[in-house]
Amino acid sequence: MKDPCIYIRKNILSLEPYSTARDEFKGGDISVWLDANESPYPNGVNRYPDPHQKQLKEAVSKLMAMPTESIFIGGAGSDEAIDLTYRIFCEPGKDNAIAITPSYGVYKVAAEINDIELREVLLNDDFSLPVERLLEAADSNTKLIWICSPNNPTGNAFPKEEILRLADRFNGMVIVDEAYVDFSDKGTLLHDITEHTNIIVLRTFSKAWGMAGLRAGMAFADPRVIDYYDRVKYPYNMSSLIQQELLKRIAEGTGNNITEIKGEAEKLSKALAENPNVRKVYPTDANFILIQVDDADKVYAYLISHGVIVRNRSRMPLCEGTLRITVGTPEENKRVIKLMADYKP
Ligand SMILES: *Cc1c(COP(=O)(O)O)cnc(C)c1O
Repeated sequence: MKDPCIYIRKNILSLEPYSTARDEFKGGDISVWLDANESPYPNGVNRYPDPHQKQLKEAVSKLMAMPTESIFIGGAGSDEAIDLTYRIFCEPGKDNAIAITPSYGVYKVAAEINDIELREVLLNDDFSLPVERLLEAADSNTKLIWICSPNNPTGNAFPKEEILRLADRFNGMVIVDEAYVDFSDKGTLLHDITEHTNIIVLRTFSKAWGMAGLRAGMAFADPRVIDYYDRVKYPYNMSSLIQQELLKRIAEGTGNNITEIKGEAEKLSKALAENPNVRKVYPTDANFILIQVDDADKVYAYLISHGVIVRNRSRMPLCEGTLRITVGTPEENKRVIKLMADYKP
């Protein structure tokens, strides 16, 4: 098993992280906190949050059955982990990364912000993973390969074995974005990171957990890699209010309607597949459905004029004529089905 730290930027490897007095002094019995220039007057938020998110990591550890040392928690969703990944592994202006396309747009935006070349490799026509072409696109400056599985916007998950084989053959990090994995029957790679030390798995509380407004995302990787995420992140990257709210909701186990959403996805897919206005309904492993219509711009505008907004993906590669529809409540889905049935081209 390779030490994944060989792919980390030199300046990051030698980074001395920001340290607080509360890090430097462990133990003892402190009741007077005069080290951080906070206000001494209690109002619920006058103290800095725990930069190490110890309690939260313990809760996530139990929730995901992963050791705390393998967990990074981002306070700007998994988007924060995406940006950090570039900053940890890629030398601006020199290194490059590879992503499948069509896929999630943030890989590209974050690459541009960090001045990293992103090489986009087209999925196969059936949306399957182009393993050979991904490897062919790599050179000695390629540090990352982004795989979104289940993929947004195509909806399909890639077979685990293919991703594992890709990771084994690639000299760099493979980041598997599993934002939608809770809706999929194809399984997670979370428990493969011990054996495949160059895999990083991204998860989020935004989708299946129903907490997009909180902005909480996770990265799971070899503890040696996670150590660098924690060094490079802003020290206080998650507010105490969010940490408390997440802890509360994790303990309650609420916000998780996966079975209902999967059932609705099936109903929506079936109804749309029977609709003559819909040319194709792609199978989904996620909480959204990609459909193909004759004139996506027109259908998109029609739905908007009736108060329903979906995502027009028709300008993405391999996605001509497509709209991405998030699965809503039963009433919302019925509305979409009815609107699509009433549509006159
Ligand atoms: C929605 C989504 C995310 C989640 O991002 P957050 O910043 O955690 O809200 C990550 N990856 C993909 C592919 C997504 O579609």
